[in-house]
Amino acid sequence: MGRALLLNATFEPLCVLPARRAVVLVLKDKAEIIHRNGADFHAESVVIPAPAVLRLRHYVHVPHRTRVPLSRRAVFARDGHRCQYCDRAAENIDHIVPRSRGGDHAWDNVVASCRRCNTVKRDRYLHETSLELRTAPVAPRARVWIAAVAGSLDPSWEPYLRAVAS
Ligand SMILES: [Zn+2]
Repeated sequence: MGRALLLNATFEPLCVLPARRAVVLVLKDKAEIIHRNGADFHAESVVIPAPAVLRLRHYVHVPHRTRVPLSRRAVFARDGHRCQYCDRAAENIDHIVPRSRGGDHAWDNVVASCRRCNTVKRDRYLHETSLELRTAPVAPRARVWIAAVAGSLDPSWEPYLRAVAS
């Protein structure tokens, strides 16, 4: 039945959840459907349209700005699955400052890379190689972890993710 994007009462994206769980929020009147995904959910005597996007009726306070967990999938999603040195298809994660030389496993020190660049770079600093970064890596916004969790973004989610892109 797919997945649904859950928005706060303020339309801020909160998470992606299985459509079945989204339907439960609607049945309990905790959330309203903003976009349907076209399917119907049958529960006992009621039929509920399966939501693609839904919004909580009451605001929930999110203590910190959501931090995106660092994972291979999330790095690939942030970097568009392209090597950040040469733009070929990425296959590896490269630590810009090698871990063997004290580099952190952190968003600003990891990039997606192809096997070739990863091999060229090995355990050297960037300035010791001929490689150049196409963009400086930064911790990504909600859009990326949503893509990393969901695999692909439903087109109906786009307007809500764009609002938090920066
Ligand atoms: Zn490369």
